[in-house]
Amino acid sequence: MRIGAHVRAGKGLVPALAHGAEIGAEVVQIFTQSPRMWKPSQYGPEVLAGYRAAQLAHPTVTSTFCHATYLINLASPDPVLADKSRACLTANLATAEGMGADGLVLHIGSHRGSGFDTALPGVVDALVEALDAVDASEDPCPVLLENAAGAGDTVGRSFEELARVIEAAGADERLGVCLDTQHLWASGIPFATTAEADALVDLIGGTVGLDRLRCLHLNDSKVAFGANKDRHENIGDGTIGSDGLSALLGHPALQGLAAILEVPGAGDGPRAEDVVKAREVWQAGIALRS
Ligand SMILES: [Zn+2]
Ligand SMILES: [Zn+2]
Repeated sequence: MRIGAHVRAGKGLVPALAHGAEIGAEVVQIFTQSPRMWKPSQYGPEVLAGYRAAQLAHPTVTSTFCHATYLINLASPDPVLADKSRACLTANLATAEGMGADGLVLHIGSHRGSGFDTALPGVVDALVEALDAVDASEDPCPVLLENAAGAGDTVGRSFEELARVIEAAGADERLGVCLDTQHLWASGIPFATTAEADALVDLIGGTVGLDRLRCLHLNDSKVAFGANKDRHENIGDGTIGSDGLSALLGHPALQGLAAILEVPGAGDGPRAEDVVKAREVWQAGIALRS
């Protein structure tokens, strides 16, 4: 398992890659554009190509994931917001593709009470439109649907829901899943013992399918199990705890994946010590299984 970290691109994409390497991450996750603004990406084609080349040539950072804008809500019952969201997703995916990312992680959004079944056709259309808009000639960047913490009518709070979205979108091979440990915990899915972690992996296998699982977001939780809130904590300092994370990280079926930290650190995101801690927790998980 490769340990990664979300890195900020305030000083540019290539400096963000360098920062990831500096803190010991083998994988980086970067926002394709400012995460809380509709304003499209400021990165031109040459900047994206420059990043792609820098990452390919990098001695220690082996892949990049991108994270889509938080404002996107593909499930919105508001047609104006739904349209903006579709356009924004398409732009995000083009940027991720340009960067050579292994996936664009996306929060599907909230149906705001209209219901999953009502929202589903709009979600599917938006995903298909974005995938079709990007040239899929060689190495297409998949959209990775992230499991939700379950707050406020969010779509994707269970693997059954994620599977239904993927299936309704024609089971396109460019659709995958990103598993966030904090969101799992907050949505009331247990995984803190080896038996629970095994049951979770079986659940994923029986719903979205293990081949769809492309990365993990490795976060402890500020809120209690089942609290339905998206609140990340540093590894070992939250309600899941190091032992609770080890059982899942040590699972043999997950060893080919990247586990990307999105922890607060001291306020500026993952630090070197957070990456070290994550590796210890993973190693403890491997020991637990051997
Ligand atoms: Zn996310
Ligand atoms: Zn996440």
